[in-house]
This record gives sequence, C-alpha cells and structure tokens, in this order.
Amino acid sequence: MTPDDLRKRLEFYQDLGVKTLYRRPRRAAQSEPEAETAPDPAPHLEESAAPAALPSLAPTGDTLPKILEDIGDCKRCRLHEGRNRLVFGTGDERAKLVFVGEGPGADEDAQGLPFVGRAGQLLTQMIEGTARKEGIPLTRPDVYICNVVKCRPPENRTPQPDEMEICGQFLFRQLLAIQPKAICALGSTAAKAILGTKEGVTRLRGKWQQWRDIPVMVTYHPSYLLRPYNQNAKKEAWEDLKKVLHFVYD
Ligand code: URA
Repeated sequence: MTPDDLRKRLEFYQDLGVKTLYRRPRRAAQSEPEAETAPDPAPHLEESAAPAALPSLAPTGDTLPKILEDIGDCKRCRLHEGRNRLVFGTGDERAKLVFVGEGPGADEDAQGLPFVGRAGQLLTQMIEGTARKEGIPLTRPDVYICNVVKCRPPENRTPQPDEMEICGQFLFRQLLAIQPKAICALGSTAAKAILGTKEGVTRLRGKWQQWRDIPVMVTYHPSYLLRPYNQNAKKEAWEDLKKVLHFVYD
C-alpha cells in the first residue's frame, strides 16, 4: 500500500468516527523479545477472536445484503463466543427513519431479530402509538431497526469500547447504505457510538444532533422506560419521538 493509499484509508475511518485502530497480536515466531513487564497486546482475545482486517472502503453502491455478507460468521470480537444468532437489523432498507439500540438481548439472540422482547414491544408501541396519535400513517416495518453491536453481550452487559468500535463499522455502513432522513439513537450506548460523545441521554435528548449530514435525535432506551421508577421519562421520550416523526414524515 502506498503512503497515499494509507492516508486515504485512514481519512475514511476518521470520517466514520473511528479514533483507535487495533492491531492483531503478532505471532510468537515473528515477535521480538519483550520486556517482562510489557503488557499483553490483546489480553482478552483468543487468536481466533482477534479483530480481522476491516473492509477497506465502504463500497460505492453498498447495500444491506452486501454488509451482511461482509459480516459473515463474524469472530472479530469476543461477543461471538456467546451468541446463538447474529442480529443484523430489520425493516425497510430504504427507510426514512432508523432506530439504533445498544445490542441484542436474550429474545433477540434467540430469534436473530432486533427489539423483539419486552423492550421491543414497547418500542413498537412508541412508534405506532405516537404515529397514530399524530395522524402519521406509519407502522414498525416502515422504519429500520438495528443495534450498535450485532451479538448479545454476556448477561446483557454494556458493550465494551473495542466491541462498539469493531461492530460500529458495520452500523455506519448500514446508515450510509440506507441514508435515512433521521436517526433515533436509543440510549447512551447508541448515542456514544454514533455521536462519539460521553454526554448522557438526559443532556442530549430533545435537541437535534448530527452524524455526518444526518440529523440524530437521542432519546431514552425502551428498557430504561420499562423500569417503574423511570416513568416520568416516558413523557419526554414520547415528545422526542413526536418531534422525529413530524420532521421525517410531514
Ligand atoms: N435492547 C437493545 O438495545 N436492542 C435490542 O435489540 C433489544 C433490546
């Protein structure tokens, strides 16, 4: 690869919001002797789970089936170890609105579909109920729904930064392929992955943010709204959704 090719490739990843690049651990035969105190380059990754080379460029004319094919039987991070099914996304591939959650839970992992458990039922109610009330003819299959990470984190823990970054490449390609009019980020993990911010949902929600040239609305994750002590956040989430639906469909 020429220096110019390398610069272009790095600019491409920078454009996608990637701030860290991961190197495969070097094979023992190739590695130089290391000081005894040298840190393990990839302490949590088996050789088979080491991040594979990321796709060189988002191909022009990228499509969801092509992205799914590139993900393949993914072993790029440790999350593959516990997965039953990879959860890519569902909905209209030409949707004007994309919802992004955090990662699959147990129901999603079993079915291979995003937001099909309790949080998913609430999300469907939020989308369809708000649309109906606002006189917007919209049902769940009209939007696209996916997650930051495509494999279920063990015990539903929050995805770790390297997992988000590795899988985030595919989320960004999904968003670039769909080119929605707006994105709704559900919860802080989605907000962090898309906007690269550490700001919490409470501060971000209700105001338009932006990823590349696409408006992004951050709102509460449906799982958060299911907890009895967070009921007052529901009203705010419905307000956020109303704003999004009118922006996209009016
Ligand atoms: N929570 C998520 O973030 N995504 C799902 O698909 C299900 C629950």
